[in-house]
Amino acid sequence: MGADINEWAAALLGFIRENTPGRNRLSPYGMSLGKVYFAQFAAPAACEKIPGIPAKTVLVTVGAKDYEPAQNAGNAGDVAAMEIAATPKVTGRKPRAAQTVNLGEAAKVVAVGRGFAEQSELAAARDLAAAIGAEVACSRPIAEFFKWMPEECYVGISGQVLKPDLYLAVGISGQAQHIFGVREAKTIVSVNKDAECPMNANADYYIVGDWKEVLPAIIKAAKG
Ligand SMILES: Cc1cc2nc3c(=O)[nH]c(=O)nc-3n(C[C@H](O)[C@H](O)[C@H](O)COP(=O)(O)OP(=O)(O)OC[C@H]3O[C@@H](n4cnc5c(N)ncnc54)[C@H](O)[C@@H]3O)c2cc1C
Repeated sequence: MGADINEWAAALLGFIRENTPGRNRLSPYGMSLGKVYFAQFAAPAACEKIPGIPAKTVLVTVGAKDYEPAQNAGNAGDVAAMEIAATPKVTGRKPRAAQTVNLGEAAKVVAVGRGFAEQSELAAARDLAAAIGAEVACSRPIAEFFKWMPEECYVGISGQVLKPDLYLAVGISGQAQHIFGVREAKTIVSVNKDAECPMNANADYYIVGDWKEVLPAIIKAAKG
């Protein structure tokens, strides 16, 4: 949520993106440096628009699971209420599809990518997930372009950022935008027929092969 909240707040406050070296998140308002999302006033003149905000104010958020909770959180910091004169305009409404799974809480996740040629093939990944007690997620094209899974199921820089114990990526090439969403997973396993794919390079373990042969073997092993 760090990136999402940052962008909402930055847009509401009228924060302006400033070019700073680092890993830019693709957004007109916010950007990220590693785990920290921030937005910054580009010019002190912009600060004058909102009473009570000093020049050079920086808005910083972090993702819900990016850091372990502090054990002795003695310093609560200063909390101040502020008036925001923003008047957001609703330009339209689109009902959000009911969320069927809470991927953020899942300890094990099986994720599918374009290595699956048809929607019906996803049944094999669901069988694997059922066998090991995992939830099913996907890469962006599976949700956004093919519409085979709900959009809240895709993982990555513009989707879900997960921190499961096990992330099992099947037929996912592992582009940087996808890896961003799982870089904090405790164990990453990749199944891919391309030994050189970036997903394998980012995995703790990988199996080179066609998922049509590999998944049944894992399911069989999981079922004992
Ligand atoms: C601004 C921007 C934001 C983006 N945000 C995201 C994001 O948040 N999340 C995201 O996922 N993507 C995101 N993308 C897209 C991303 O760059 C990749 O295009 C996408 O992740 C690729 O999805 P994929 O791995 O499923 O498909 P592909 O890259 O096509 O990979 C398919 C893989 O399947 C393997 N394969 C094929 N057949 C088999 C088989 N039978 N058995 C085993 N393996 C097989 C192939 O070797 C290949 O590695 C973003 C892109 C942009 C430009």
